[in-house]
Amino acid sequence: MRTIYLSIVRRIVLFVFLIVILPNQGRPGSYNRYSNLGYCTDTSTCLHEIGHAIDDKSGRISQSEDFKLAVAIYLNTADLSEWRSARLYNQITYTLFTTKQNPMAEVYAWFFAYSGGNLDNLPSIIRPFFDQSLVRECLKQNGNHIMWFL
Ligand SMILES: [Zn+2]
Repeated sequence: MRTIYLSIVRRIVLFVFLIVILPNQGRPGSYNRYSNLGYCTDTSTCLHEIGHAIDDKSGRISQSEDFKLAVAIYLNTADLSEWRSARLYNQITYTLFTTKQNPMAEVYAWFFAYSGGNLDNLPSIIRPFFDQSLVRECLKQNGNHIMWFL
């Protein structure tokens, strides 16, 4: 009975993987919040996709009014004298102006990609929106540039 159950679960997982993930293979990365599966082909993209996973596991914290307010404060107080900070600022403003669907989720994922997996690299106003233990768990699960968040 247990074997049949596992076989069915395996088929469902494979089905979801083939149907939901593979059609996006032309892109450097993708994360599907319904299947919790994702893939990525380079470090920056992996971090971005992991950012989406962390967002979902945090109850879509990117959609909260607190996060929107923090981003607004960040945009008004960002230190642009250092090139890395200026690059992040450009990425965030570009994302906000060009993303039609759910720009705050993309902004959240870009903040995480920028951090390089180290939350100390984030602007202090943004840092509290990332749970350290969740970040550690999600980073650990990302082996060989293919993520499985089941
Ligand atoms: Zn994204």
